[in-house]
Amino acid sequence: MEKNEIYEVKIEDMSEDGSGIGHIEGMAVFVKDTAIGDTASIRIVKVKKSYCFGRLERIIEPSPYRVEPFCPVAKQCGGCTLQHISYKKELELKKDRVISCLGRIGGVEEPESLLDEVCGANSPYHYRNKMQFPVGLRGTFSGTGGRRDYFDTFSSRSSTVLGFYAGRTHTLIPLEECKLGHSVNKCIISAFTRWADRYRISVYNEETGEGILRHVITRVAFRTGELMVCLVATTEKVPELDKLVSELAKEVERYRAGGNNASLKSVMLNINKEKTNKILGDKTVLVNGRDYIVDYIGNIRFQISAKSFYQVNPVQTEKIYSKVLEYAELTGNQVVWDMYSGIGTISLFLAEKARKVYGVEIEHKAVSDAKHNAEINDIDNVDFFVGKAEEVVPDWLENGLGEYDSSSHSFRRKVDVVVVDPPRKGCDEKLLETIKNMKPGRMIYVSCNPATLARDLKYLLENGFRLEKYSVFDQFSRTMHVETVALLIREI
Ligand code: SAH
Repeated sequence: MEKNEIYEVKIEDMSEDGSGIGHIEGMAVFVKDTAIGDTASIRIVKVKKSYCFGRLERIIEPSPYRVEPFCPVAKQCGGCTLQHISYKKELELKKDRVISCLGRIGGVEEPESLLDEVCGANSPYHYRNKMQFPVGLRGTFSGTGGRRDYFDTFSSRSSTVLGFYAGRTHTLIPLEECKLGHSVNKCIISAFTRWADRYRISVYNEETGEGILRHVITRVAFRTGELMVCLVATTEKVPELDKLVSELAKEVERYRAGGNNASLKSVMLNINKEKTNKILGDKTVLVNGRDYIVDYIGNIRFQISAKSFYQVNPVQTEKIYSKVLEYAELTGNQVVWDMYSGIGTISLFLAEKARKVYGVEIEHKAVSDAKHNAEINDIDNVDFFVGKAEEVVPDWLENGLGEYDSSSHSFRRKVDVVVVDPPRKGCDEKLLETIKNMKPGRMIYVSCNPATLARDLKYLLENGFRLEKYSVFDQFSRTMHVETVALLIREI
C-alpha cells in the first residue's frame, strides 16, 4: 500500500477519536469524517507498520446510522466525536466494544450471555455539570486562509467570546453554548461577554502574557440547581467585578423565570499569572455568595468548591453507583474496601448498607474531601487512607488494625466486598494479587476503559474469581468513552 492511492472501503467500527475504521487487504485504516456503515472512497495519507490513515474523498454510500450533528460547530470543535451517528447506534457501539474486549483480551467465553444491562442516558445532550471556557476575542477574517484567520485570539480588540479550542490546537471556536453542558451556560456566556465588552476588560494573550481574562469555569449542581461561576484571571484586581456579579445574577434570574431550576450561589475568582496551559492557578478568592455549591448523589450531600473533583455526569453516575450497590448485596454486616476512592463517593454510597467501609486514594486533597463529605453526612463507619492502593492495601492486610473480634480476642481483617474504580490504565497487578489474597466473596470492578478491565479480569478469572455479570453505562454521550460495572464472585 502506498501514499496517495485511492481505495473503496466499508467503515466497520469507530475509534476513540471518532474516526471510522475500515480494512484494506486486512490492514486497518482510520478515516476521519466517516461513520460506521459508510462506504467511502478514501486516499491513503500515511502508512504505518500495521495500520494506516486515509482521507475521505467521497462517500459512495452513506451509513444508515448517520444523523445531522446537533451542534453547528461539532466538526471544528472536536469535543464530541460521535455527533454524526445516531444515539441508538452509539450505545450499540459501546456495548460491542465491551463485549469484544471481554472476549478477545479477557478470555471470557460467550461474553454476550453475561450482559446484564446497557444503561443509556435519558438525554445524550446537556449532561455535563462542569464547563471550562477559554476567553478570546472575535477576530477579523483576513481571507489569507488557515484556521487562525477564522478566529484569532491575537488580533486587536473586538468583541469578547468564550469558546473551545479546536481539536489539538489553540484556535478558539466561539460558542453561544455547548450542547454537552447544562443549558444555563448559554446565559452565563452571554452575561459574561456583555460585561467584558461593556467595561472593556482586557483578554489574556497567550503569546505576550498580557491581558486579564483567561477562563470561565461553570459548575451546576443538577439536583439543587445551585450554580458556581469561577473566573480565572491574571490579577486579583479585576475591574468592575460587582457589575459582573449583577449581570450574571440578572441572566440566571431570567433563566429561572422561564421555569428552570438554577440559582447563582457562588462567584469565585482564581488567579493564574503563569504562562502555562494549566487552567487554574493556586489562589482562589470569593467574589460573591459562598465558596461552594451543594449537590446530591443518591442521599449523599456533596459540597463542591472551585477546585474539588466531582463526577461530571451526576445523573449517570448515580445509576452506576446504584448498580454497584445492587451487585454488592449488602445487608448491613459486611466489610467493604473501596479502592481508588476519589472524594469517597462510592464509599459513602455503600456505607449506609455496610458495617464498615475502607477507602484508599492516592490524592491527598481528594481524601480530605472524602473525610469532609463523610462528616457533613454524619457517616462514621468509613475510614480513608492516602496512598497507592497497591501499597496501602497489602500493608493493611499484613499489619492493619482491622476489626476487633471479641470472641477470638483478635483483630480480623476479613473483607466481604472489594470495589475498584481505577483510572484508564486499570489496576496494578500487585493490587490484583492482594485482592486475591484478601478472598472477598464478591468483587465489583467499575471501569472507564474496557481494554484494561478485560486485561485485569483475565488475571482475576485465572485466580479464583468467576465473572457473574456486567452492565454497560454511557456516562459521556457523543464520545467513545464507555463505563462498565462487572460483578465477580469468588469460587475458591
Ligand atoms: N471512585 C471515585 C473516583 C475514581 S477515579 C469516584 O467515583 O468518584 C480514579 C481515582 O483513582 C482518582 O481519584 C485517582 O486520583 C485515583 N488513583 C490513581 N492511581 C491510584 C493508585 N495507584 N492508588 C489509589 N488511587 C489512585
